Amino acid sequence: MDFDTPLAEAWVRTIATAVEQHRAHLTDLDSAIGDGDHGSNLQRGFAAVLTALDDLRPDNPGAVLTKTGTTLISKVGGASGPLYGKAFRAIGAALPGPATPTTLAEALAAGLDAIRALGKADPGDKTIVDAWTPAVAAFRTAATTGAPLPEAAAAAAEAAEQGARDTIPLQARKGRASYLGPRSTGHQDPGATSTALIFRALATTTAT
Ligand code: ADP
Ligand code: MG
Repeated sequence: MDFDTPLAEAWVRTIATAVEQHRAHLTDLDSAIGDGDHGSNLQRGFAAVLTALDDLRPDNPGAVLTKTGTTLISKVGGASGPLYGKAFRAIGAALPGPATPTTLAEALAAGLDAIRALGKADPGDKTIVDAWTPAVAAFRTAATTGAPLPEAAAAAAEAAEQGARDTIPLQARKGRASYLGPRSTGHQDPGATSTALIFRALATTTAT
């Protein structure tokens, strides 16, 4: 199974549904260590993405993801908008045509690079990087050992969910939560949690 244009569109639509379903949870997490807007930021962003996709006639998967990124950058005011926006734009730029699991692994890695280039967060800083990094590693390991797309995506989703849970004891060193210092410990990072939704959506979409 290749990652083609319909799959790219289905992935983004599944993320939008997940964000809508988990909006209150993301907002609760962000209320504990931030300003309580992560759920509504992403909900607003992905609602705009759905509208933008309705008008798009994409002829490659990259076009879907580039449009997703551009829309998130323009519609989401919080830190997560530009970070996810740049990530999706980088993934889009790496997918000029239908992709094998190895190509998609490199595209997802380019997404992580874009997040880190903009946000300057390292693993362990209690950010989206803490879910995105193990997800890319798991996807890449699966892909390079010949796993089909659904299997690689499922491994990435598991790793992202574990990465998000592993942010609980961490002290935030980037973003709004870092202002809390040691009081940011004991809470799961909202952005790492939404990253887990993004990778779970990829697994759901590609599941056969
Ligand atoms: P804001 O913090 O501006 O209110 P959101 O609430 O939408 O924006 O997003 C907060 C999430 O953004 C955090 O939980 C964290 O995961 C992520 N984040 C913040 N700063 C960075 C950064 N520099 N690098 C990576 N992720 C970050
Ligand atoms: Mg916030």
